[in-house]
Amino acid sequence: MHAETVLARLGALVEHDTRAVVFPVYQTATFRHQGLDRAGEGYSYSRTRNPTRTVLEDGLAELEGGSHGLAFASGMAAVTAVLHLLKAGSHLVVTQDLYGGTYRVLVDVLCASAGLTVSFVPTGDPEQVEAAVGPLTRALLVETPANPLLTVTDIRAMSRIAARRGLILVVDNTLLTPLRQRPLELGADIVLHSATKYLAGHNDVVAGLVATRTEELGERLRFVQNATGSALGPQDSWLVLRGMKTLSPRLSRHEANAARVAAFLAGHPRVARTLYPGLDDFPGKAVHDRQATGPGGLVTFRLRSARQVRSFLKRLRLVIFAESFGGTETLITYPATQTHRDMPRALRGRLGITADLLRLSVGLEDPEDILEDLAQALEGTE
Ligand SMILES: *Cc1c(COP(=O)(O)O)cnc(C)c1O
Repeated sequence: MHAETVLARLGALVEHDTRAVVFPVYQTATFRHQGLDRAGEGYSYSRTRNPTRTVLEDGLAELEGGSHGLAFASGMAAVTAVLHLLKAGSHLVVTQDLYGGTYRVLVDVLCASAGLTVSFVPTGDPEQVEAAVGPLTRALLVETPANPLLTVTDIRAMSRIAARRGLILVVDNTLLTPLRQRPLELGADIVLHSATKYLAGHNDVVAGLVATRTEELGERLRFVQNATGSALGPQDSWLVLRGMKTLSPRLSRHEANAARVAAFLAGHPRVARTLYPGLDDFPGKAVHDRQATGPGGLVTFRLRSARQVRSFLKRLRLVIFAESFGGTETLITYPATQTHRDMPRALRGRLGITADLLRLSVGLEDPEDILEDLAQALEGTE
């Protein structure tokens, strides 16, 4: 079945008592056992398994082509569960300009509590990745395109390194969703998402999803999910399912609007640089086009001067200054003080997450309204 068909009918034909077409929210913590010898059958306790969550988890596994799907209380809970697969003292090689929350949980939580060590490298350069792999390295964690600079990493090249050096390859696929990039088919072992973004798609729920290529990794992660109690609740699982049903038309519209916005910004005299995988001058375009089937809906840009940021943000009327992306409303984020504030300033500077940088999540409004708002805000910026 095509991915669009899977999405539009998520849960519709899953067997359950009432045969409701929309799979219900099983808002229960526990389930009756059928007898003393049958306590292990079916559902028993919602931390372990819940029917609404199962529909979501199986749906993601099918979309990503994985053996297991797992839903977590947030994207960060998903990242943390995956990192719990590693033994204390393991070393990881990680994309240097990745999502700020992933940087924070690695450096400020797991390096201290689990003795993990991390090398942050420009994973767009496979030679630097290879050079960073040492005897204790167990995993390679990449985000592509990465957040917020949209740097691209070649997933196939990473999977060759991972295979040769015996590493688990984990790909954060939040920015593109399984409709535009399928990392497991490109050789990744684990793919994860902040489902808060495009998958749920309405800025109304925080959730994380993971799919594994092998049964073995899936069962290990299932054990971590139950043991640590980080699974997604039934109501939120239902909201993610509800959002995912319309992912395909939403994403197409996000991309069509983002293409218009990127072209507008790229030609604007007050904008110094526009980064969007759909633009011809996008640095990682060749690799991106080989492994992904669309540019996504995020547009990152630099104003000519960092001093203009304050008045630009203040003048915006339709575009909302807020964190997150992938929802219906166009949002603008200032990575230096929002998503990436826990990254040391010097590191941010080295990566280019500087005071002139802004990131747009282009929403589903009429593109003319978005362009008009950006135009008036840029014109009046002091
Ligand atoms: C938002 C985000 C996360 C974290 O997800 P939450 O749902 O906010 O916990 C992880 N990775 C990427 C790329 C993200 O954009």
